[in-house]
Amino acid sequence: MRLSRSLIPTLKETPAEATIASHRLMLRAGLVRQEAAGIYAWLPAGQRVLANVARIVREQQNEAGAQEILMPTIQPADLWRESGRYEDYGQEMLRIRDRHDRDLLYGPTNEEMVTDLYRNAVRSYRELPQSVYHIQWKFRDEVRPRFGVMRGREFLMKDAYSIDLDYAGAVISYRRMMLAYMRTFQRLGLSAIPMVADTGPIGGDLSHEFIVLAPTGESEVYYDAAFEAIDWTSGEYDIESQADLDRFYTRMTTIYAATEEKHDPRAWEQVAPASRRQGRGIEVGHIFYFGQKYSRPMGLTVAGPDGAPVIPHMGSYGIGVSRLVGAIIEAHHDEAGIKWPDSVAPFRAVILNLKQGDATTNQIAERLYQAFAPDALYDDRDERAGVKFADADLLGHPWQVIVGPRGAANGRVELKRRATGERHDLTIEDALTRVCV
Ligand code: ATP
Ligand code: MG
Repeated sequence: MRLSRSLIPTLKETPAEATIASHRLMLRAGLVRQEAAGIYAWLPAGQRVLANVARIVREQQNEAGAQEILMPTIQPADLWRESGRYEDYGQEMLRIRDRHDRDLLYGPTNEEMVTDLYRNAVRSYRELPQSVYHIQWKFRDEVRPRFGVMRGREFLMKDAYSIDLDYAGAVISYRRMMLAYMRTFQRLGLSAIPMVADTGPIGGDLSHEFIVLAPTGESEVYYDAAFEAIDWTSGEYDIESQADLDRFYTRMTTIYAATEEKHDPRAWEQVAPASRRQGRGIEVGHIFYFGQKYSRPMGLTVAGPDGAPVIPHMGSYGIGVSRLVGAIIEAHHDEAGIKWPDSVAPFRAVILNLKQGDATTNQIAERLYQAFAPDALYDDRDERAGVKFADADLLGHPWQVIVGPRGAANGRVELKRRATGERHDLTIEDALTRVCV
């Protein structure tokens, strides 16, 4: 994209309403715009990040064998009356009435709808296990929407739902999803630590939250840094193998991690002091096993091996896709702006033409732009170098290719790595190969 014709409205001033780094930087870098309390429009650069996060989440869900579907945002109230949650959910649920006086709601989650889908489509134990997921907007009328997209009212969630014949099967599905989550967060550049959690209105009795450290997190957490050193994407665990999943789960649950409510000071003493990580944490994902909580009241049964009807066991698995964009910025920024991990950056590189209009710089910048397209942003604005540098640091592109008149005359450009600040003076060819890797 050419910056001169892009809807990337960067701000020099810090917006008064933003109290945390990610919110401030998302507004300053022109990623989002607030439309109403807790409701945001995603502008081009923000939308590219959101799409990259969703793509990684999707790839790991697919690898775990979950099938992608797309359910509507609007749901009939009657489904929720079947589970008993229509009344229970309270004021967080946005209730709607259509022109025929039918009660609808903007979905805060989809357990009922998925139970209904399975109820209508799955007949026999031979069709199990299965899982489905979608990446869809949710609405929860939060009392205090705040921190930008971190606690919105309308937000993008990945929610998956597993169905198994029995408890033993459901446990395998749960562990598989947990491994998929560790891989997902690692690829997003985050150390998200699973912590045993309360199950809340979703219900059930086995649940973990995935928590990222950030000063603005809502709960105090404690964990052993051993988690950060593990490469979950290596070939060590085969996501298809039950034995590997058991081994994985044992490892997960023997390294210390706890939220304030579950913290055990005596076990904490056993963690090597240099390995202790303590601080505020943001919840970026949450998984639940809830057994027959929905299948039973909603009359979901399948024919079991002896022909008799069996009530299946289910689980649900959420990831806050839009919240993750804020969480990634919390983990990757400095005074000057965002430092995107390569995997989610809106643009892999920005090309800074320091003398717009000069025949040589124009020619080199255009050539680089063509080579990197469509993954590059070309700062072709008629602006001072200082403004271009500041915006590039603010927007956080992993690579900056700086085309100045002096270097250009000798066929050279400067390459800056945003994360480390490293700079190299290179030929155009060398710059091209460096950025491509
Ligand atoms: P929280 O405790 O933060 O309110 P929750 O426990 O109510 O979240 P879940 O039902 O577990 O949320 O939803 C799954 C995921 O969706 C959460 O782990 C979180 O990442 C994300 N999420 C939940 N509520 C919001 C929100 N208001 N804005 C943005 N993301 C959210
Ligand atoms: Mg939760």
